[in-house]
Amino acid sequence: MRRFFTGLLAAGLMMTLAGCGSGETAAPAGGTLYAMDTVMNFAYYNTDGGDADTAYTQTTQEIERLEQLLSRTRSDSEISQLNGAGGAPTIVDGEVAAIIADALTYSTATDGAFDITIAPVVTAWGFTTDHQQVPEQSELDRLLKSVDYRRVSVDGDTVTLGAGQSIDLGGIAKGYASDRVKAILEKNGITSAMASLGGNVYVRGSKPDGSAWRVAVQDPKNTAAYAGVLSLTDSFAVTSGGYQRYFTQDGKTYHHIIDPATGAPAESGLTSVTIISPDNGTMCDAFSTALFVMGEKKAIDFWRTGGYNFEMVLITADGRVLVSEGAAKHFEQEKGSGYAYETIPRTAP
Ligand code: ADP
Ligand code: MG
Repeated sequence: MRRFFTGLLAAGLMMTLAGCGSGETAAPAGGTLYAMDTVMNFAYYNTDGGDADTAYTQTTQEIERLEQLLSRTRSDSEISQLNGAGGAPTIVDGEVAAIIADALTYSTATDGAFDITIAPVVTAWGFTTDHQQVPEQSELDRLLKSVDYRRVSVDGDTVTLGAGQSIDLGGIAKGYASDRVKAILEKNGITSAMASLGGNVYVRGSKPDGSAWRVAVQDPKNTAAYAGVLSLTDSFAVTSGGYQRYFTQDGKTYHHIIDPATGAPAESGLTSVTIISPDNGTMCDAFSTALFVMGEKKAIDFWRTGGYNFEMVLITADGRVLVSEGAAKHFEQEKGSGYAYETIPRTAP
């Protein structure tokens, strides 16, 4: 069997391993797309008579549309207008209002570990530009005063931010886009497909040869390797890792997942969090960011008692790979990775 990494190694994101079988399967529709600040890969198969070419055309158009709608670095986006409104109630597209409302739900669920009002802090670190830097603590303290999801309100299509607030949907936009990809595949009758939007993967059905899709969880220490492989059908799998976007200053590494409690890159003892769910890519994206911020103990508690349906793979800085009970059935350890593997039981021992 030959494996191909769907181009994600260079970008430092989750890899999807698609086994190329004996060659009976026609080439899929799809390709590589650079959008939403990441590398995306798609492979759609015509197995059940679905129109894979149309589905892929619609996918590229949809992602372009969402980038336009949700980016805060595009000055003409709805989010930029909202961020520039100075706290005045702003009517936005109904879809944008719904995404913001969803984001607030995930903030409440995670007790603020996921918080889209982190935007001014992300800006201070320079993660939205090419010039990253360590901000002064006094500046972070000042900016943190405006970080609080509870001051954002959504009333129908009207969104109001608190004084000094702005929002950043970077922690959820690709997950939302993956939900839209799923809808496009459904509409076009595609029953075998793989979509990888940076670290956000959606697999539909199984591979054309009937076997499960193989989604690799990258090794944060060595992004050319992986820590394990998930065999998945009809699932979203989203990874957040401190190794995905970072810079180094005075020998120290700073990554792009910010702890809203400190304003600094989260140092929770986790180096990677993968969330798996059958039906909600947006949730996976929000929770991968949130659980990275929470750290091992809180993340496990949240998985057990938070009331949301998902499975997960956590990688710790001290060399352990923790696989939740429901994910363990689908997870293959990578021999020789140097990690110790543990299954997290559904109920606390
Ligand atoms: P990636 O975008 O690399 O896949 P994530 O899904 O973890 O990674 O999202 C990180 C992005 O989300 C950051 O670039 C920033 O825009 C935003 N962000 C950072 N920290 C948080 C946080 N605690 N809550 C919500 N969004 C965050
Ligand atoms: Mg995320």
